[in-house]
Amino acid sequence: MQIVVDLNRCQAYAQCVFLAPEVFELHGEESLMFTPAVPDGQQERVLRAAAACPVQAILVGEPAGPAAR
Ligand code: SF4
Repeated sequence: MQIVVDLNRCQAYAQCVFLAPEVFELHGEESLMFTPAVPDGQQERVLRAAAACPVQAILVGEPAGPAAR
C-alpha cells in the first residue's frame, strides 16, 4: 500500500500521527514526515488515519499489479 500526503492541504492537525505514529511524524510545528510505502501491519492504522484527517490530505493507493485488475 502506498500513500501520499498533500502537504499543501495538511494543516498539521496531527490526527494521523496519533493514529499511525510509525508512518506519520511531525517535525516541529507543522512539517509532516511520512513513509510512502506503508509497512505490513500498518495498513489498518493508516486507513484510520486517512479517514480521520480533517482536511482529507492523505491519499491512499494500491500499487498496480495483477490483483488490481
Ligand atoms: S491528520 Fe491530516 S492535516 Fe493532520 S497532520 Fe495528518 S495529514 Fe496533516
